[in-house]
Amino acid sequence: MTDIPRKIIPLADLRYASRIPAVPDRLTTPNGLLGDTRGRPLRDLRISVTDRCNFRCNYCMPSEIFDKDYAFLPQSSLLSFEEITRLASIFVAHGVEKIRLTGGEPLLRKNIEVLIGMLARLQTPQGKPLDITLTTNGSLLARKAQSLKDAGLQRVTVSLDALDDAIFRRMNDVDFPVADVLRGIEVAQRVGLAPLKVNMVVKRGTNDGQILPLARHFRHSGAVLRFIEFMDVGATNGWRMDEVMPSAQVVERLHAQFPLSAINPNYSGETAERWRYLDGGGEIGVISSVTQAFCGACNRARLSTEGKLFLCLFATQGHDLRALLRGNFADDQIAAAIAPIWQARTDRYSELRAALPPEASAAPGEKRIEMSYIGG
Ligand code: SAM
Ligand code: SF4
Ligand code: SF4
Repeated sequence: MTDIPRKIIPLADLRYASRIPAVPDRLTTPNGLLGDTRGRPLRDLRISVTDRCNFRCNYCMPSEIFDKDYAFLPQSSLLSFEEITRLASIFVAHGVEKIRLTGGEPLLRKNIEVLIGMLARLQTPQGKPLDITLTTNGSLLARKAQSLKDAGLQRVTVSLDALDDAIFRRMNDVDFPVADVLRGIEVAQRVGLAPLKVNMVVKRGTNDGQILPLARHFRHSGAVLRFIEFMDVGATNGWRMDEVMPSAQVVERLHAQFPLSAINPNYSGETAERWRYLDGGGEIGVISSVTQAFCGACNRARLSTEGKLFLCLFATQGHDLRALLRGNFADDQIAAAIAPIWQARTDRYSELRAALPPEASAAPGEKRIEMSYIGG
């Protein structure tokens, strides 16, 4: 007798609401100057290349939900490298200058180097190369860093929540050793994927004791350690305000041990607030998505693994660009369909939530996208 699958994977994935964008009759050529209702330009495109991951970080893909029966997207739903590159070039014509590959775990996508090579050949309308980067859990980085660099990747961001092996293994929930990620970071730096950033999600009571050990480890290393507030993204991670450690407290704790002074942002819209060690040990960043919303300068669009465009990490509805790609529309038609979507953008979830009581959601009752689906 053959096994009967326990979950049926729908042909058209209906896990999140989406609509197929209208293609206008009158086509206008993209001029790189799109602005949304609040005057925010479109500069940064985050592309999720897989919804799968070999870790089960509790704040992102809790193992009770993302178990062996979880219906990940079927291969046929994924955008191909050609489709991703085609959409990326349309977004670049609309003003995108920076592309971040993410997931799930992007290094699990087969032949990701090929995609990086294809994206690295794109240029802005001014003839400049794109800023291409990737966020990874680091588990496969030691093995892949050189080929990623050779393909044209400039930088990487590695997520690392603890230096202590037992805490790290508990947080990734697949018993993965921290030494392998640290080695990945070393190899990435050696091959020139720089400046390398390390992201730590701080959960009070879980890993806040790792703030100082991680800071000590990465001081004087050339890597920039960034502390991220635990966010209420998605609907499965059991977020609670009392587990959020405000960045101000992180800075206070660090400053008491290693005196810091604030430095200016690298560019407008930068999510991290930057600080430098007064003794020349390098710099750190804090990303205060919960306690200090930065929606006012948010210039980021997100493309899901199956080609849906989301205008905010907390969006509940996507715009199905894959339907246009596979519906034989020309590039100028797809560009013309994207323009009014960005122009109508009003999203500012974190600002709205900040005005509500601590545990409240600004999108009650709606199914929010998971971080692993849309990428960070
Ligand atoms: N798997 C890769 C990784 O972990 O770097 C890329 C995808 S992951 C979704 C991107 C980033 O989102 C990671 O730095 C992760 O720590 C962060 N992240 C996931 N869930 C989060 C949450 N609830 N709050 C804050 N950051 C979160
Ligand atoms: Fe995987 Fe990254 Fe999510 Fe952790 S944060 S479960 S590594 S996608
Ligand atoms: Fe951007 Fe949405 Fe995050 Fe605000 S909540 S910064 S609009 S992604």
